[in-house]
Amino acid sequence: MSSPATVASSTSRRTFLRYAGLAAAAPIFTEAHFAMAAVRNSTKEAAKSEPLAPGMLLRSAMPADAVLINANENPLGPCQAACDLIAKIAPMGGRYDIYGETDKLTQTFAAQHGLKENYVAVYAGSSEPLHYSVLAFTSPNRGLVVADPTYEAAMRAAQVSGAKISKVPLTATYAHDVKAMVAADPNAGVLYICNPNNPTGTITSKKEIQWALEHKPKGSILLVDEAYIHLSDGEDVLDLVAADKDLIVLRTFSKIYGLAGIRCGLALGRPDLLAKLQPYGQNPMPITGSAAAAVSLLDQDLVPTRKKITADTRNNTIAWLKTNGYKVIGDPQTNCFMIDTGRNGRGVIAAMQAKNVYIGRTWPIWPNAVRISVGTPAEMASFMTAFKQVMDAPATVVSAMDPMHDLADPMQHTHFA
Ligand code: PLP
Repeated sequence: MSSPATVASSTSRRTFLRYAGLAAAAPIFTEAHFAMAAVRNSTKEAAKSEPLAPGMLLRSAMPADAVLINANENPLGPCQAACDLIAKIAPMGGRYDIYGETDKLTQTFAAQHGLKENYVAVYAGSSEPLHYSVLAFTSPNRGLVVADPTYEAAMRAAQVSGAKISKVPLTATYAHDVKAMVAADPNAGVLYICNPNNPTGTITSKKEIQWALEHKPKGSILLVDEAYIHLSDGEDVLDLVAADKDLIVLRTFSKIYGLAGIRCGLALGRPDLLAKLQPYGQNPMPITGSAAAAVSLLDQDLVPTRKKITADTRNNTIAWLKTNGYKVIGDPQTNCFMIDTGRNGRGVIAAMQAKNVYIGRTWPIWPNAVRISVGTPAEMASFMTAFKQVMDAPATVVSAMDPMHDLADPMQHTHFA
């Protein structure tokens, strides 16, 4: 495989990928769907041609003792205070949020971050506001600009809105190339900046984001996805929200707070921008999600402690990989990173799965690179053992009809329908 940097510079000449006008039948997905689709497509279920009901797209297809480092989840789960509060309020779950758990969360977050309360919108995870922002601010006349590779959900939503999608390769240091992103589409409606970036875990500086904000096409917004910000040394941009700039910032409680299965996320922006998301759906929050998120925000040790645990495990794994001659891409700072395996990544994924270790997916721009989520030290030990065995063996032959091919590519329809 060419090095990712080489691929990036050669593809920068064909930056503008025009997808507008393609049928919009591919579902809008979340990380859970992308990860599960990768698992499903490597099993014999992929061969079935019947469409799946929406819920089944997420049904578990893995052995109970599998090592799951494929969906950027947090193996630590909710903090103790969150578990206790969930148990305490569960009996009240027969009613909607009559005790104002969601308001308490809004107040807590706003007070902690110097925002007015009407600049905070609470959702059951950040996937919803991510999708809604793209649906609201893109159209056949207003495009979406993303980095390549990056988290795919925005592209899926842009397919639905019929927007042109411009994919701009990351820079040589795997940051967002904000200058090229701004230049990519003069009619852009949304510039999506995932900071730190999923899947590379790499950082884009606040200075660069500010530059994009000052130079973006008129009428567009920046959608800054800070799902992984607490796990990194990257600077957040909430002060730009407070300063009434044209951006929406997304936060999730699925990562450092360990609430992926409980569900809570936030959209942060000027009230007039947040109002544009409302026509796309209103869903009362699960009281458990709001309450668990609010109490997690009050735990002052949580972020530094978990950031260190994740960083130690990640750095140990990366050090082992490098010592053994494997190539880690860039300087990852989150709970995920990519390895350039030097061979077809989907073959590596399948071979790892055969050893009961489920790693993340590939992205079309780097077919030899696989994403690894940071699990517990024990999980990463299993990963290292299996990875060495897989890489010591001859490369697995992957069929030309590899059903995982389309996972991250909005040009393609999904095969697992
Ligand atoms: N944004 C990014 C970059 C992600 O990686 C994810 C999940 O992995 C999300 C948003 C959405 O997460 P959730 O809907 O669980 O909040």
